[in-house]
Amino acid sequence: MRCTNGGQRVIALAAATLLPVLAESSLKQLKPGFNLFSPQQDIQMGQQAAKEVRRQMVVIENGDLDAYLGRILGKLAKSKYARTLNRDGSRSQPFPFAIHAVYDKNINAFALPGGPIFIHTATIDAADNEAQLAGVMAHEMSHVVLRHSTNQASKRNLVELPAILAGAVTGDSLMGQLAQLGIGFGANSALLKFSRTDEAQADYSGAEIMADAGYNPLELARFFEKLEAKAGREGSLEQFLSDHPNPGNRIEAISDEIQLMPRRDYTDDQTGQFPHIRDVVQHLPQPPAKPAQVADPAERPSN
Ligand SMILES: [Zn+2]
Repeated sequence: MRCTNGGQRVIALAAATLLPVLAESSLKQLKPGFNLFSPQQDIQMGQQAAKEVRRQMVVIENGDLDAYLGRILGKLAKSKYARTLNRDGSRSQPFPFAIHAVYDKNINAFALPGGPIFIHTATIDAADNEAQLAGVMAHEMSHVVLRHSTNQASKRNLVELPAILAGAVTGDSLMGQLAQLGIGFGANSALLKFSRTDEAQADYSGAEIMADAGYNPLELARFFEKLEAKAGREGSLEQFLSDHPNPGNRIEAISDEIQLMPRRDYTDDQTGQFPHIRDVVQHLPQPPAKPAQVADPAERPSN
């Protein structure tokens, strides 16, 4: 489905009416939160945590699925809003994004610091179209760009972290020292459960990334709201809603944001492959079970 603007006369009239307003309002400039980690440390942490995810979860290796997810990620990663956001609002090189599907009947998606993204197969199955899938990916990329997980770790361990991070240790050694503080970024980490403010930011930035790639940003909001509406009836959504709490009024917020963006034609589908990929996902053979995920008790919120 293509969404196009109305007739030219209508646009001209609307533009004449709206111009004074538009001149005063523009897209919000998001700012990353307080962070004691360097972007390079985000990348190291994320790569170590991704190894842990591969041990704990069933990461799918399927040529069609991997190529498809990689193709959409590549489109989204071209957006300037996918570039690393600095404290002064400037942008640096993008984080090395990567995406893999995880075999899981619970709907969820999560991003590790510095770029690795994992999407549950149930999420691909639940999406109505490619733009909704792209919306989840753009939302997760935004958690990476805004560095929400290391921001949370920084706030929680304000006193102990500076000495550890200044020690210039890398990789496993740094992970080990952070683990002693109860800091881990693997699957089920409390640091991957975000606040409603973080969620609103990830939606805002995700909509910008989607729009640049030509996907209708409203599909992000529609998908998240569809999942909210199902909640309570389906236990498979609990984890998703706990990791990504509803900031409220998603459709209204993104509709307002779109008004501030350059006018574009958006699509819900760019590759024509979504129905095939969903079919692939629905017919994946049941993989052998992995040992039960054991989360460090320190990583679990007490409530
Ligand atoms: Zn989120």
